[in-house]
Amino acid sequence: MVKFLDLKKITDSFQPELSDAVRRVVDSGWYLQGKENSGFEKEYTDYIGVSHTVGCANGLDALTLIFMAYKELGALKEGDEVIVPANTYIATILSISDNGLVPVLVEPDLNTMQIDAENIESSITEKTRAVMIVHLYGKCAYTDRIAEICERHNLLLIEDNAQAHGCMFGNKRTGSLGCAAAHSFYPGKNLGALGDGGAITTNDDNLASMVRRLANYGSDRKYVFPSIGINSRLDELQAAVLRVKLKRLDKDNDRRRSIAGRYINEINNPIVRIPINLNPDKDNVYHIFPVLCEKRDSLQKYLSDRGIMTLIHYPIPPHLQECYKRKDILKFRGNLSLTELIHNQELSLPVSPVMTDDEVTEVIEAVNSFR
Ligand SMILES: *Cc1c(COP(=O)(O)O)cnc(C)c1O
Repeated sequence: MVKFLDLKKITDSFQPELSDAVRRVVDSGWYLQGKENSGFEKEYTDYIGVSHTVGCANGLDALTLIFMAYKELGALKEGDEVIVPANTYIATILSISDNGLVPVLVEPDLNTMQIDAENIESSITEKTRAVMIVHLYGKCAYTDRIAEICERHNLLLIEDNAQAHGCMFGNKRTGSLGCAAAHSFYPGKNLGALGDGGAITTNDDNLASMVRRLANYGSDRKYVFPSIGINSRLDELQAAVLRVKLKRLDKDNDRRRSIAGRYINEINNPIVRIPINLNPDKDNVYHIFPVLCEKRDSLQKYLSDRGIMTLIHYPIPPHLQECYKRKDILKFRGNLSLTELIHNQELSLPVSPVMTDDEVTEVIEAVNSFR
């Protein structure tokens, strides 16, 4: 039996350090906004290569806080348009619509499944103020062309790095490429806590201070509230866990890459398509290994009958979700047929740092024998 993601095995592989870290926090008597959070913020700041990390409660809050902060700073206002990939997890879109901003969905490039720069440029209107890129499946979505479009049109470039901790673009990390980036430490992510967690990274001093204020009820100083904020904190237990796991992130990502490398080289079933990876070395941390297959549902059942667990990321695209059908919140041109094709054909094969070579072989043989 090949699990999709064996979280228990992953957690065990960090022992005894993980339990030691948890015990250290339990014994300290200090559970919020202490040494572990500030230690993690510093270590993550160095790792990503930015000037600030602000810990928060989860990835959706991280995304939401970035937009809240830009509104509070006057860089965005309600009704402004934010260009975003149509094929993403719902949280990306929620953070935009929750802030009264208008998500403008654009189609991906089917070869990479990442946002298509030409579609960004052709979707710009006089109301466009920002572009949100998503390093979906762990693959870098940033390109020089996207940066150039944002600069020329004076748009904020924001990264959703929930799936791509440790991913590189040249010698920089995703999360340091745009104006601000959101990270999720949901347990299943490449850098995962033992519960919820999130962070914002940025090189912008004003943005970092504003995010910190808004995540703390809108306060920089005890009992003084210049802004209307929320309560969103990375607790000490999760921060301590993340500090342990961050040390092994690059090694874990290398293991994911080597598994993905075998899938790319050894899966040779003509009806199973592997997305093109332009720079297979560094620009992908393989949070997910997606394949496309017209007979996706029978492939999934075929693998499951052979004890191989797979998932679909994601079965229903945001623009077809009930929550967005009721109101006229989303904007897009045409019919988003590429996005729908991906949602109809995508299947995620198991990939994780604790998978054995034998398990990888089992997956490859099963996929290759599917007709
Ligand atoms: C997981 C995820 C989020 C949300 O993170 P949470 O910590 O679960 O709130 C946002 N965007 C993407 C692309 C994700 O995969």
